[in-house]
Amino acid sequence: MDAYVVAPPPQITVPVEGGGVFPVRRVYCVGRNYAAHAREMGGDPNREPPFFFSKPADALVTSGADTPFPPATESLHHEIELVLAIGQGGADIAPEQALAHIFGYGVGLDLTRRDMQERAKAARQPWDMSKGFDGSGPVGTISPAAVVGHPSAGRISLEVNGQVCQAGELSDMIWQVPEIVAALSRLVRLAPGDLIFTGTPDGVGPLTRGDVLRGEVEGIGMVETRIV
Ligand code: MN
Repeated sequence: MDAYVVAPPPQITVPVEGGGVFPVRRVYCVGRNYAAHAREMGGDPNREPPFFFSKPADALVTSGADTPFPPATESLHHEIELVLAIGQGGADIAPEQALAHIFGYGVGLDLTRRDMQERAKAARQPWDMSKGFDGSGPVGTISPAAVVGHPSAGRISLEVNGQVCQAGELSDMIWQVPEIVAALSRLVRLAPGDLIFTGTPDGVGPLTRGDVLRGEVEGIGMVETRIV
């Protein structure tokens, strides 16, 4: 093989509960997947099929580490989300087969430059810079499905400085996990190492430097970070 002409990027990994690390390939996110959040963002939860955007793998922040407040925003918003980790790839996956493709689950934050996203929506511009900035994806330890099963219900919540800011129910997801995997696999071929953030319940809001975030999904795990 020819020699690298610059230093190759490191493999991004997320720790796995019980040992080992999950090597990250791509990070996908579902837009508007809880009716109450769709309404708070001015959308109609009944009419929109699932849509996807992505973050760079190296935008992830390991739970417990600090998250830098990003430049170019005055409205950094938190979105607490269930994250699924693909263990077996595929395209055109049937919903009934989808769970077999999932290695495990974690808890993540889809941090968003909300002011920039609102301007992008108004101008019909892409969301990359409002969603995929450095440090935009704090994520907790991945729990293997072999241990925790496949959650279809359970509390999803986020505390900021000890105050509950978001509290929802996984069963309120408009598109459940099997449907998300099936829909995304009709657009792109999934592969081991892919993470999918599955959307946030209502209660999103702004963050400032010094805020301490602690998110949890019942029976799955948690994510913790401080904005600096
Ligand atoms: Mn989100």
